[in-house]
Amino acid sequence: METVTKNLFLFLSKNNWLNEMAKKRGGNIVTGKIIAGTDFPSSVQIIKELNTRGLATTVDHLGEFVNSEKTAVERTEEAIATIETISRERLDSHMSVKMTSLGLDIGRDLVISNMTSILDTAEKHGVMVTIDMEDEPRCEKTLELFKQFKQSYNCISTVLQAYLYRTEQDLKELSSLKPFLRLVKGAYKEPQTVAYPDKKDVDENYKKLIEQSFRLGLYTAIATHDDHMIEYTKGLAARLQIPNNQFEFQMLYGMRNKTQLELVEQGYKMRVYVPYGRDWYGYFMRRLAERPANISFAFKGFVKN
Ligand SMILES: Cc1cc2nc3c(=O)[nH]c(=O)nc-3n(C[C@H](O)[C@H](O)[C@H](O)COP(=O)(O)OP(=O)(O)OC[C@H]3O[C@@H](n4cnc5c(N)ncnc54)[C@H](O)[C@@H]3O)c2cc1C
Repeated sequence: METVTKNLFLFLSKNNWLNEMAKKRGGNIVTGKIIAGTDFPSSVQIIKELNTRGLATTVDHLGEFVNSEKTAVERTEEAIATIETISRERLDSHMSVKMTSLGLDIGRDLVISNMTSILDTAEKHGVMVTIDMEDEPRCEKTLELFKQFKQSYNCISTVLQAYLYRTEQDLKELSSLKPFLRLVKGAYKEPQTVAYPDKKDVDENYKKLIEQSFRLGLYTAIATHDDHMIEYTKGLAARLQIPNNQFEFQMLYGMRNKTQLELVEQGYKMRVYVPYGRDWYGYFMRRLAERPANISFAFKGFVKN
């Protein structure tokens, strides 16, 4: 039953009609719950409040699978403006971007040109840009772009997904670049040919990757809401004598708020992934696929508004 619900939400996440409907209405249902605002200026206050509580952030302008050059360029301009605002407002924040939103599916030259403009601005302002990892067919191209950019820019990081069979090898290959890596379990619907179908195997691989990354001496972001993984990481760091400034925890905005603050109180670095923008539908459906109880956010909002 759990798998059926998960697959249904992942299927719905790609529905263009529902996405367009959600963009036109409904932003207020999720604002302040799973997204910070429908644009960046209106999100700044929430980020400042998180920072004041000791929570660093990474902001994400929602929207992906862009298929027009014009939109990809607009996304790039928005990312640049966001980085400038992060710097001007002195926010303790990184920025997360998706390669498909910058034109990955349209052309290599376009995505390289857009990403170069973003990284030039990010390097100037000292803001880290993380390339989120999308679905498996885009993984190879995304990692290839990451490796290329990492030769010229320090302010770039990326994400590896524990559900993919290939990830252990990717981590080994990336390690010589000394990257800042975010490790996640993986959020997309993938076939058994490329990804572990059983959650138990994904969890085992996740633990293995955390240990591998620690042993390679990489700065590691453990992005999970799973208590078991958090406790495992704490124990492993103590055992391997990994100092707290060599890793951080990351969680999504609106999820496990109490746990986020507890980790800060315990002396760990905690970064909150804060999405903003009108294109919230696909993101929300993936959160429902992970945990149908997340629908309570929208329902509470619906009743209130
Ligand atoms: C900061 C961040 C960035 C991410 N970036 C990417 C990315 O670039 N690419 C990508 O594919 N995926 C990304 N993800 C999503 C990730 O891949 C997982 O799909 C998602 O985090 C769910 O897995 P989990 O490890 O949190 O726990 P799960 O395996 O979903 O859940 C394990 C247990 O954790 C607990 N739990 C989970 N969620 C909650 C909750 N909301 N409240 C209370 N308890 C809960 C429950 O006990 C649950 O049984 C990101 C996640 C985070 C946190």
